[in-house]
Amino acid sequence: EPEAAGVPEENNDTIIFVPSAGPPSPPEQVQYLLIGAGTASVSAMRAILKADPNAEILMVGAEPHGPYMRPPLSKELWFNEDKTESSQLIFNDWSGNKRSLFYPDKLGDVTELAPGSPALLKGTKVVKLDPTNQKVTLSTGEVIKYGKCLLAPGGEPKTLPSLEPSDKNPCLSTKVHLFRNISQYQQLSSELNENTKVLVIGGGFVGSELAYAMTRTGAAVYQSFPEGGNMGRVLPKYLSNWTTQQLETAGVHVRPETKVVSTECRDNGVLVQLNTGEELTVDHILVAVGLKPSTELGDTAGLEVHGEMGGYVVNAELEARSNLFVAGDAACFYDPVLGRRRVEHHDHAVVSGKLAGQNMAGAAQPYHHQSMFWSDLGPNVGYEAIGLVDSSLPTVGIWAHKDTSESEIRTDPGSNEKYEQGIVFYMDKNKVVGVLTWNIFGKIPIARQVIAAGEEHQDFGLLAKQFDIYTK
Ligand code: FAD
Ligand code: NAD
Ligand code: NAD
Repeated sequence: EPEAAGVPEENNDTIIFVPSAGPPSPPEQVQYLLIGAGTASVSAMRAILKADPNAEILMVGAEPHGPYMRPPLSKELWFNEDKTESSQLIFNDWSGNKRSLFYPDKLGDVTELAPGSPALLKGTKVVKLDPTNQKVTLSTGEVIKYGKCLLAPGGEPKTLPSLEPSDKNPCLSTKVHLFRNISQYQQLSSELNENTKVLVIGGGFVGSELAYAMTRTGAAVYQSFPEGGNMGRVLPKYLSNWTTQQLETAGVHVRPETKVVSTECRDNGVLVQLNTGEELTVDHILVAVGLKPSTELGDTAGLEVHGEMGGYVVNAELEARSNLFVAGDAACFYDPVLGRRRVEHHDHAVVSGKLAGQNMAGAAQPYHHQSMFWSDLGPNVGYEAIGLVDSSLPTVGIWAHKDTSESEIRTDPGSNEKYEQGIVFYMDKNKVVGVLTWNIFGKIPIARQVIAAGEEHQDFGLLAKQFDIYTK
């Protein structure tokens, strides 16, 4: 019976305490605690329940929603012609089915927590983690002891200090947008229409996908980034340049090799100056300059954070300390095939969350299943990739000639070619460490085998045959 928090009510000779209004208290201890209500946590929850259907699982998430997937926030939700559906976070998936952004898993509130019935404490942050005594402190002050804990906090978008609002430029507080979650999607999509101009800063995944997606609102979209072309850190130079051409054709005004040097609030919008001298007056600025993995709990928990890659350092079993596992964007893990890595993609959150969940339930298995990722940038650019895809590695490209049905091996193709369908191998010495398939889908399992085999390759024609690049 809660005493101090209650209001006494007289009823003959017994006194009943009626709890004051407020969220129900979490339990003092729980078998499995999942920190973060994102994709990695959901995947871990499913794996734990599979191994132990009577597991007692509590998920704690800072956002005010149940767990959801992020990929459609920068793609499908913008493409849905039915705006009522998009406002309900419903999208048409690649096979034409209507889907909700939210995961369908059943998660009750803490009063419903029971063996086999997981619960979610939403709108609540874990503010302290004590791995030695296996307990956490919540933003509400409550303390929970755990048997096993998953740390899956994802990350926060980076900002640019020069875009912080100031006394001189107060408008930046409403004109500058970051993009990671549902409320940021709702805010940005409600602001854009054919009378607005928006500048995207950043040429990576979020910047490039959203630049294309936002053209669907009728807004004039500009994009500035330091690389020579879109996705320049992932795609080889020629393919990055081709992608920029495709985005230009789709209506994005791309400004490669540029930086924003100043911003100033004006009556008619924000005046932005680029280092090339070009001035743009825009209504909104989207900053998409990378992710900062959330590792602040590590400060007091004494957990190791990787100096270069960021993220909590974990072993190949995804364990940071006894009974404490990390998965998803915030895990800097040891991949026995490709070495120490950190991966910021949906499928990695699924794969690593699953492995962490299995290991929390006692499997003791190392990371072995390489995750993949995909991106879509308009009608002519859709790609999937696996392994180390970093444009600083040497690459070998195999490109289809649709007219002759022959493929050609090109390590550095000219800039006037068309890149409709092909495969790019990312090499470390003679070994394939990454594979990217361009407008060809469903070949990732073959690529996964090629990387896992770890063999030396010289005959790329032979290697490419396995992929049959004429099949869509
Ligand atoms: P998250 O999904 O970020 O979930 C972590 C959750 O933990 C958050 O809700 C956070 O609020 C919560 N949290 C953090 N700290 C605490 C705390 N202390 N206490 C409680 N809760 C906490 N990847 C692809 O492969 N393909 C795509 O097409 C793709 N599209 C994307 C589009 C967008 C717009 C974005 C932002 C990302 C996209 N990604 C894509 C990346 C992918 O969504 C992420 O890699 C994935 O969400 C990572 O999952 P996660 O569970 O590690 O973290
Ligand atoms: P899911 O159940 O939607 O997909 C399962 C499998 O279907 C994927 O692993 C992939 O092999 C295939 N697939 C899904 N979308 C595809 C696409 N657009 N083109 C080709 N193959 C595709 O998986 P999920 O994890 O629930 O996905 C979440 C979101 O990510 C959805 O919006 C989904 O459409 C998208 N997704 C896109 C791709 C892609 O574009 N290649 C791949 C996987 C997932
Ligand atoms: P990113 O790392 O993909 O790209 C960052 C971009 O910002 C680069 O172009 C970089 O040059 C630029 N940049 C960095 N500092 C800058 C500066 N000072 N000024 C101007 N530009 C600067 O990061 P993102 O696009 O912000 O994406 C965030 C996260 O979301 C990533 O983890 C990404 O993997 C994930 N995501 C993945 C997908 C997908 O897999 N399809 C889609 C969306 C988001």
